[in-house]
Amino acid sequence: MTTYKLLLLPGDGIGPEVMGEAERIVAWMNGRGLASIETETDLVGGCAHDAHGQAISNATMDRALAADAVMLGAVGGPKWDGVPYDQRPEAGLLRLRKDLELFANLRPAICYTALADASSLKRDRVDGLDIMIVRELTGGVYFGEPKTISDIGNGQKRAIDTQVYETYEIERIATVAFDLARERKRLVHSAEKRNVMKTGVLWNEVVTKIHKERYGDVTLHHILADNCAMQLVRAPKQFDVIVTDNLFGDMLSDEAAMLTGSLGMLPSASLGAADERGHRHALYEPVHGSAPDIAGQGVANPIATIASLAMCLRYSFFLGETADRIDAAIARVLDQGLRTADIKQDGCRTVGTRAMGEAIVAALDGGS
Ligand code: NAD
Repeated sequence: MTTYKLLLLPGDGIGPEVMGEAERIVAWMNGRGLASIETETDLVGGCAHDAHGQAISNATMDRALAADAVMLGAVGGPKWDGVPYDQRPEAGLLRLRKDLELFANLRPAICYTALADASSLKRDRVDGLDIMIVRELTGGVYFGEPKTISDIGNGQKRAIDTQVYETYEIERIATVAFDLARERKRLVHSAEKRNVMKTGVLWNEVVTKIHKERYGDVTLHHILADNCAMQLVRAPKQFDVIVTDNLFGDMLSDEAAMLTGSLGMLPSASLGAADERGHRHALYEPVHGSAPDIAGQGVANPIATIASLAMCLRYSFFLGETADRIDAAIARVLDQGLRTADIKQDGCRTVGTRAMGEAIVAALDGGS
């Protein structure tokens, strides 16, 4: 059995609390002989700033580069509001994304049957929803140059952001989306604005070419990004994988995520390019932040972090079956009526972070 190195960066606020429950699952897997995962724990964010004046140290970055995967809890909090901009907790996360060259952000939107009533849409629209948004993360209008605000006289200013995409950037993100679709329902929607944007024209051209050359077994639909936003609230279950650029992906992934209810339920993965062995740098993290309002109380929902661990097993450790078991155990615990405070419902039992983690482990054992 391959031994994988997993670097844990719990971070600030509720980060250590929710990460503790992911560690509980890792210990369960190692104990049952289902995996061989060696963990190391290090600092990122505000706690790293407190320890050595930087949101992530070079030594921690070296560990992240050497690991098979990195899991992050959350960073930030009011304690660090006054620290210099380049030392703020989020700088640690941004450096991880940059130095690991994580160009593909994967955000699943899964609606568990037991939570379908928590969605802002009607139950029948979202019950059983399972879609994956693949967002290009390192290019596009957030990074393109020129990016300026200049004085143009008469009390007027001009602000410029530049949307730039090159062929290779579109090729590699499309490849991630098509590969994922092969493990799912073999359906990809590529969202852009080719009707008004040159980058949309190139995006469409490159995705079409990759599809024709290598992914004839996957169905590809092109969709304008604004229509995609509408369709996500009209009939979200028509989608399987949606691939899109950085800007549209930012919007569409938040929209899709909220179809499913609480922030405490949402995992994510950010992936780099695969090497010749199929290994890629990867960072797994819940979508939520450090939740300073509930930190230290033992009430945070650990499901987003545990589901992020399941993504890590699937995409970095090639343990898809164990990942399926974890996802099923989460669904089973929700079906049994256990809820953390953020997803509490009438007739259900409200439990804390630790009890939720323990219940998921018990469900894993029950399902073996
Ligand atoms: P947040 O996600 O931390 O919290 C928003 C609300 O959701 C809060 O009421 C919180 O209690 C609740 N919540 C979040 N996660 C939860 C969980 N697992 N269980 C139960 N309830 C949960 O967002 P915010 O309040 O805007 O930001 C707080 C801090 O987190 C800020 O410093 C922000 O910069 C940082 N942040 C970090 C990340 C990250 O590390 N990736 C992401 C977003 C925000």
